[in-house]
Amino acid sequence: MELQPVFWLNPRQNEKEHDTTSLNRKDIEEAASLWERFAPFIKKEFPETIETNGIIESPLKLIHSMKSSFSKPVEGDLYLKCDNELPIAGSIKARGGFYEVLHHAEQLAKDAGILSEGANYEIFSTPKFKSFFKQYSIGVGSTGNLGLSIGIMSAKLGFNVFVYMSQDAKQWKKDLLRNKGATVYEFEGDFSKAITEGRRKTHADPNGYFVDDEDSQHLFLGYSTAALRLKKQLEKKNINVDKEHPLFMYLPCGVGGSPGGITFGMKQLFGDHVHCFFVEPVHAPSVLIGLLTGEKEKVCVQDFGIDNKTEADGLAVGRPSKFATTISGQLVSGIYTIEDDELYQLLTLLTDRENIYLEPSATAGLAGPVRILETNYIHQHHINPSNITHIAWATGGGLVPRKDRKDFYNKGKS
Ligand SMILES: *Cc1c(COP(=O)(O)O)cnc(C)c1O
Repeated sequence: MELQPVFWLNPRQNEKEHDTTSLNRKDIEEAASLWERFAPFIKKEFPETIETNGIIESPLKLIHSMKSSFSKPVEGDLYLKCDNELPIAGSIKARGGFYEVLHHAEQLAKDAGILSEGANYEIFSTPKFKSFFKQYSIGVGSTGNLGLSIGIMSAKLGFNVFVYMSQDAKQWKKDLLRNKGATVYEFEGDFSKAITEGRRKTHADPNGYFVDDEDSQHLFLGYSTAALRLKKQLEKKNINVDKEHPLFMYLPCGVGGSPGGITFGMKQLFGDHVHCFFVEPVHAPSVLIGLLTGEKEKVCVQDFGIDNKTEADGLAVGRPSKFATTISGQLVSGIYTIEDDELYQLLTLLTDRENIYLEPSATAGLAGPVRILETNYIHQHHINPSNITHIAWATGGGLVPRKDRKDFYNKGKS
């Protein structure tokens, strides 16, 4: 409430007796197979994915020079998971957002009897399918990136798509969406207001489908499939993850869907050997207050006199997701908060050191390896710090226009 950065360690981690998780590993694998079915469609519609055969994935990069410029020495290796490089959407929303739209499209086509078992999904590119989806609409409330991902994929499939945006959404994101054929509505209030209005209007249309960031199992599963891909990348780099060699992940957190889904996926694969930390702005610690109080989606930051005003538009969320937070509450190791100024500093430092460009929200995880040293977590868990592999999840920035990049960079420099 004093807007000071904090580091909260979760006392309820691994409280298995209250296991409310309704999903399991099979759900993640089924979600992964949806991506494979749609790969021929994605490859056909988005030429930037030809090289990867329609698979949308990002690289894992060792960022040694960045690590050596931190204010305190950090032991172990530091990697960046570069979701800013995810094709098409340029952010982590290419995982959850695309997944939910594709899942919905598949369901509609199956129900209408126009998609047979074993079909080649290139069929989704045909005029017949696109005019079929024209009868349906998709709505979404967004601070920016979710709207971008839903808007781009829905429009490509032929849906009428409506994006309800909060006032903090960046102008270029609205422009780009309109350009792609989405209808954009802007709202005075914050994300919660945009989502409430969007939900109401979309549900008023009998052929409307609302992608509900505050309570979506599909978004969550879409994010969780990242774990299967990351596991393969770790193996390829000969990075062991076991009791002696724990993996620490630092995940920027808005409503809690993307960090929650990835944490869930990684915990399914690596159990207690992976330690996941979420990071939120000091002005928008929605998941932190939800878990700290145990009230989850029933509380928002404004209830605590916190204004939800931050330059990190991807994290500017005042109320946590109900679905995601229920699961994360038992899995997340802790949550730290960060000031906007530090996001910019990290942005500029990463550009200078590694020549990698992120949007402000996406840099938040880079503070994790130093911040965790200021707690007793490593000691408490009897971990040898030099055996830790750190991964900061870079959640976006790929589509930021040149002019904004420059402004952000200069802000961090000053
Ligand atoms: C959406 C987003 C996040 C956080 O994801 P949530 O599901 O809202 O928690 C983090 N970074 C960026 C850049 C995002 O767009």
